[in-house]
This record gives sequence, structure tokens and C-alpha cells, in this order.
Amino acid sequence: MTTTVAAYAAPSAKAPLERTTIERREVREFDVLIDIKFAGICHSDIHQAREGWGEAMFPMVPGHEIAGVVEAVGPGVTKFAVGDHVGVGCLVDSCRECENCEAGLEQYCLKGGVGTYNALDKNGEPTYGGYSQKIVVDEAFTVRIPDGLALDVAAPLLCAGITTYSPLKHWNAGPGKKVAILGFGGLGHMGVKIANALGAEVTVLSQSLRKKDDGLKLGAQHYYATSDEATFKELRGTFDLILSTVSAPLNLDSYLSLLKTDGAFVNVGAPEEPVALNLFSVIMGRKTLAGSGIGGIQETQEMLDFCAEHGLGSEIELISASEINEAYERVLASDVRYRFVIDAATI
Ligand code: NAP
Ligand code: ZN
Ligand code: ZN
Repeated sequence: MTTTVAAYAAPSAKAPLERTTIERREVREFDVLIDIKFAGICHSDIHQAREGWGEAMFPMVPGHEIAGVVEAVGPGVTKFAVGDHVGVGCLVDSCRECENCEAGLEQYCLKGGVGTYNALDKNGEPTYGGYSQKIVVDEAFTVRIPDGLALDVAAPLLCAGITTYSPLKHWNAGPGKKVAILGFGGLGHMGVKIANALGAEVTVLSQSLRKKDDGLKLGAQHYYATSDEATFKELRGTFDLILSTVSAPLNLDSYLSLLKTDGAFVNVGAPEEPVALNLFSVIMGRKTLAGSGIGGIQETQEMLDFCAEHGLGSEIELISASEINEAYERVLASDVRYRFVIDAATI
């Protein structure tokens, strides 16, 4: 038997989100039924709900930063019990047998994986995300939220946290490393907290100095405005690693000039248009230009444990579901401090 639950959905790419109902599947052998408490709003929700990344599936219930409490489990579930605090991120399934899945890199599943929303599951049914009261997810794609983390500030970790943690670890952000976080929004502010907790010397590169006080408070040692040409002169050749969280196209050449020899510019921001590059910007200085997508399930658990250990939650603005459309506009205007989180009780 399916369960009918309330949700907020975009009926089409041009329309605002509105309250509706959706069906959640019955709890199968390895499934966990989660009573959603909080859902973060990621900029990726907006890119997809407005078809900025291409054709999407409607109605769309966005939301891949989900924190809640286990309400029921299937008979085969061993990892979770009723009452546990759990999270779900961007993936709810993958092939589980390709080289990448076997290596814990489900986000790069060679057969594609199943997104938490705007996707079809293995039975061809559309998936619906976290802007809803409940969700049913296989335990293999459910993670534990440690006791030390409140569910509201933990929700954004399921995407913003892992998307910054994974590349910061992979590119060895740590003591003795100069790391710049480019873009100080939802991902960016978690990047600052995590890079600082890893022991790196952290610089924020933001469009303006408007949020400087917050940046220094959250773990950056330095804060520069990219609208100021002098920033590029002063910081030339400075960084071992630049992590870009910017949601719009950038002038990559000028940012690559800020790297040391052998430095890496790692992009997690996912703008809707392609960007141009002068290849001399990487040739001179043997620089790396790379990208990174969310993180695997095991690494997501590792990130949550790390954040709990270091007391790192997201800085959030809690909203009711009726404020989602307004929140989208504020995200688009870079006016978010630093993640909108929907109180699922208001859906
Ligand atoms: P966000 O909260 O809107 O933050 C993006 C930040 O980028 C803004 O706060 C702003 O920082 C900066 N920015 C925006 N427009 C800009 C422009 N025109 N020029 C320069 N800087 C600009 O968004 P988010 O949720 O952190 O997501 C950021 C991007 O990452 C999105 O494209 C999202 O889709 C993508 N994403 C990728 C992954 C992945 O797996 N790779 C996962 C999640 C999200 P300042 O105000 O400091 O300038
Ligand atoms: Zn996201
Ligand atoms: Zn796979």
C-alpha cells in the first residue's frame, strides 16, 4: 500500500512551487520510512526546477538535503531502527555493482544512479525529494545523523556538507595548505567551516565584502572581494587549492592565476552555461582544473561524523513551506545566510 503525503512541487519549469500530495511507495524489505523534519534548499533545486540544466520531470518535488526520524523499517533492515535520526542526500539508489559503486563512488555510478528527485527509479517510477512530509529510501542510501548534530542544522550537510568535504579531503586540504573558497553561500560557508576544521589556512573569495564578518567568524583567516581588481594582483600565485562553489559562469583564467605552481582549481559550482578557458592558464604552472560531484554514501557518513565531532552544523534560516518561492528568489540574489531550511511540519 502506498502512503499519500503532502509535498511542495513545481508543476512546470515556469510555475512557482505549490502544495500538493504525492504517493510514497510501500516499505519494502530493505526500506526505511522517514518522517522528514527538515529539508534544505540547495541552489541545484532551483537549477532543476527551472530547467536551467536542461529538460526536467514535472511535477517536481525538489529537496536532497533531508533530515528526519525513522518511522518504520522493512523486515530486512539491519542498520536502522524506529526513532533513529537519519539523513538522505542526492542519491537514493545506484547499480551497486559497477567499478565506481564498488569503490564507494555511487555518485559516479557508471549506469547513472538514481537521483532523490527529478529521476526515475529502477521500476521506472519518478522520484520525489525532501520538500515533503515523508520519504521511503533503501537503507543502503540512508545515513545516520549523529546525536551531537541537531536535525535542522544537519540537513544541509547532506549536500552542501558532502560536496565540499569530499574535494577538500581528496585534494588534501589541511595544515600548511592555503585554501580559497570561492563563493560564500550554502556550499561556500560549509567549505569554510570544513577546510578550517581540517587545519587549512582559509581565504574566502566573495563578490563583495558584505559578508566578511561572518566569513571570519565561521573559520576563514582572510576575506577578499573579487569585484576589486586589486585582489587578483595581491593574491597572484597564492593558493594550493581553490574550491569554487559559484553558481554562475566565471572567468576561469583570472582565478587560475591565483594558484601556486601545481595548485588545483576544483569546481563544484554547476552554472547553466559553459565557460571559456585559455589553456595557457593551466599550462603555465602545471595547474590542475578539476571538478567534483557530491560524495559517496560511506563518505557522506564519514562527513557527518566529522561534522559532529567538530561541532559543525550549517548556518540556517528556518522557513515555512509557504516561503519556498521567496527563498528561491533570495538564493538567486546571493541573499542567503547561509542555507534556507524548510520546517517540514509546515508542509
Ligand atoms: P548559493 O547558496 O546560491 O551560493 C552560490 C554563491 O556563488 C553565492 O552565494 C555567491 O557567493 C556566488 N555567486 C552567485 N552568482 C555569482 C556570480 N554571478 N558571480 C560570482 N559569484 C556568484 O548556491 P549553493 O547551493 O551553494 O550551490 C552553488 C553551486 O553549486 C550551484 O550551481 C549548485 O547547483 C552547485 N552544486 C553542485 C554540487 C556538486 O555535486 N558539484 C552539489 C551541490 C550544489 P558570494 O555572495 O560570496 O559572491
Ligand atoms: Zn545540492
Ligand atoms: Zn554503479
